[in-house]
Amino acid sequence: MHVTSKSARLAALSAVASATALLAGSGPAAAQGQLTVYCGVQEEWCRPMVDAFEKQTGIKVSMTRKSSGEIYAQVKAESANPKGDVWWGGTGDPHMQAAEEGLTEEYKSPKLSELNDWAVRQWEQSKGRAVGIYSGALGYGVNTKMLAQKGIPELKCWADLLNPKLKDEVQVADPNSSGTAYTMLATIVQIMGEDKGFDYLKALHKNVNQYTKSGAAPAKAASLGETTVGIAFLHDHVTMIVDGAPVKAVAPCEGTGYEIGSMSIIKGARNLDNAKKWYDWALTPEAQKLGAAAKSFQVPSNKATPVPKESPNLAEIKLINFDFAKYGSSAERKRLLAKWDAEVKNLP
Ligand code: PLP
Repeated sequence: MHVTSKSARLAALSAVASATALLAGSGPAAAQGQLTVYCGVQEEWCRPMVDAFEKQTGIKVSMTRKSSGEIYAQVKAESANPKGDVWWGGTGDPHMQAAEEGLTEEYKSPKLSELNDWAVRQWEQSKGRAVGIYSGALGYGVNTKMLAQKGIPELKCWADLLNPKLKDEVQVADPNSSGTAYTMLATIVQIMGEDKGFDYLKALHKNVNQYTKSGAAPAKAASLGETTVGIAFLHDHVTMIVDGAPVKAVAPCEGTGYEIGSMSIIKGARNLDNAKKWYDWALTPEAQKLGAAAKSFQVPSNKATPVPKESPNLAEIKLINFDFAKYGSSAERKRLLAKWDAEVKNLP
């Protein structure tokens, strides 16, 4: 009698424990079937990635789209109680900063050997915590109709954007939220040196109509004629051009920077095995082809993924020798952003 009641109590306790675990979503069955992805590219590309992964694996993905700097801030804010598993996409610099700050996990994918050198170098420089998934060069898009209406000669260089006739006609994102705009800040500093670079950014400020949150927004605005010039990655302008926008994509004559779009696994990921499944899959040609299908024309990192014919040819662009280790370091990124806030953003 005594033995029976004890086993009944144990059975009841165990049933309550399982029900609680299921409700909390922390039981083994729930953990096997879920993944939370923080997606740093355009929503149009995030969605088909999630759909294809869910279809292939049966894993249920919860996805949030944000800009690169915003995802970094979220991962940092949640570090004591991580909610995300994989951070896929966005420029490499905040991924590098997160790696240095121990916010992301080390992982060596079996797919690493299939990647271009620049993607593997990102992995090495981040001590195995971030890997390159695509690359693309920075530039600007010019709405040619608006330029002609204003009687401004063809724009070819960074210096041309200081033309007073372009007052309130240049749009770029805020480098705090946007990896695109941080790439521009770091590019200008590397091309001109820090003092002259900040002089340039202050002068450019007179022509800037808005610092947007998302890096690709200025490309869209230029395509719609809401601004004459939008500074963004060249592939973002190509997305508009293939849809018929009257935009010319310009790789500036002084040279320009580029990004290594990256992926990281978040430290303390609740669904670590599934995060690794996503990570390995996202490095395959099959997954990377979804970019071009979504009109995202970056250069993919797996050597076997076809480079979309629309992708700007990086070999034909005057690229600077971008120092990803320096400009992705925590101290440098914080310092440059604070300086830009203090000296540029709030100028009249
Ligand atoms: N979307 C596309 C198509 C990109 O190429 C990039 C760069 O990595 C981003 C978004 C990043 O956006 P943001 O500048 O808003 O961080």
